[in-house]
Amino acid sequence: MPRFDRPPRRIRPPLFPGRRRPFGAVRPLAPGPIRALADANRLFAGGQFGPAAEKFEMLAKAAGASRLPFAPRLFFQAARANWRLGQIPQGMQLLRTGLGILLTAGAIDRVRQIASSAADELDQLGLAPEAAEVRKFLADIPASAGAAAEASGMPPAEPAHPILPTNCGQCGALIRTEEIEWIDRLTAECAYCGSPIRPDDG
Ligand SMILES: [Zn+2]
Repeated sequence: MPRFDRPPRRIRPPLFPGRRRPFGAVRPLAPGPIRALADANRLFAGGQFGPAAEKFEMLAKAAGASRLPFAPRLFFQAARANWRLGQIPQGMQLLRTGLGILLTAGAIDRVRQIASSAADELDQLGLAPEAAEVRKFLADIPASAGAAAEASGMPPAEPAHPILPTNCGQCGALIRTEEIEWIDRLTAECAYCGSPIRPDDG
């Protein structure tokens, strides 16, 4: 983080130019939390939203306390489980907590991505006022570099990547192309547990 009260000592070129790492280098979750996350994903997929919500929230808080980059998405997962239980204000509060962590870290692109996914999902769940609240929040945050490129008609260049499995082989999370980050041309990183994902996994 640059500080404004003293001159920077030395500016070094980034190790991986063009990679946005607002939380620094990512290490995968430890095996214990990965198992708990896999349980939560199984419960959610099986429609057991109560226990899933509890597990996601517990994992999100633990990840947040350890300043792990997965915390915001785990808060979003906890929010999604709460919405399905009809616990709408609790779900909105969990979403706000996750987005707040990202805003503090300056990860505006990720804020936009999670917030627009959340707004779409709230619409699908018939929660129009909450979807409108999230869209208003989206409209109020500053434009990102990605959005500026989009507006100028110049989409950011994306190298060709292979098709990935549908779920993370470690934590079982559904793999959404807009959520993952590519480590290299063949390897992506799970947005929920940080495990590497390759086309032959799963
Ligand atoms: Zn994973």
